[in-house]
Amino acid sequence: MKAIVSHDIDHLTLTEHYLKDLIVPKYFVRSYIELFSGKISIAELLHRYGDVFTNQWQHIEALHEFNVKHKVPTTYFIGVNNGVGLSYSQKQSALWIQKMLQMGCDVGIHGIEFENFEKINAEYALFKDISKQASFGTRMHYIRTNDQTLANMAKAGYAFDSSEMGYKAPYKIGAMWEFPFQIMDGYIIQKPKQWQSKNFFQSCEETKKIIDKVVDLNLPYLGIDFHDRYFSASHKTWKDWYMWLIEYLISQKIEFVNFKTAIKELENKLE
Ligand SMILES: [Zn+2]
Repeated sequence: MKAIVSHDIDHLTLTEHYLKDLIVPKYFVRSYIELFSGKISIAELLHRYGDVFTNQWQHIEALHEFNVKHKVPTTYFIGVNNGVGLSYSQKQSALWIQKMLQMGCDVGIHGIEFENFEKINAEYALFKDISKQASFGTRMHYIRTNDQTLANMAKAGYAFDSSEMGYKAPYKIGAMWEFPFQIMDGYIIQKPKQWQSKNFFQSCEETKKIIDKVVDLNLPYLGIDFHDRYFSASHKTWKDWYMWLIEYLISQKIEFVNFKTAIKELENKLE
């Protein structure tokens, strides 16, 4: 088993939300629930207020530095359309796409459009135009899909998608590879609530169970989705959990690859 790590970029700044959605006030309500239920410390809450002044909710560079240090190749998924709480501008997104490509990251799209082919295809074309890449993948924001979404993504021309959660090996839809994934930060740390419901140790135990299941099922790849937003002192459990996860996999001698390398491996096996 090898591991594939990817990061969804849901936010860049706080101000991008102020006139568009209620993410920021809802987040502070959630923070107080987490404080009073003992899941976060006062220091963590103060860091969250600090973020209002620095106006920073992305941690792309710090996370990249950690990944490079641990030799973890990753893929970043970034949006070019707005919806369901993803509110940064196309201009901001374009700047980050160039920056991440220069940093040596693989960059795909964090998709908003999932309902019909025309919209999915237009979103694909828009990202292709902005990123100037010939081949790239996608993950839907909030992993929203319907019966036709994956087939329509394949038709649009995506090289891969990783919007399906499940204990399955990668499989092909037309020319597109679907990479089902198993570990998502929010599903571990928050579920079944909408705020942090587990502490660090509970989160690690839950994660080990998932890894063991992937090993038992003999799946070729373990898929991990971690949001860069949580790689900060404002989300101590989340950041500690991610760092633990990478170090745990390294201690288990698990190799890391990105989606594009995994596709080459899969296609070599098919030949
Ligand atoms: Zn998202």
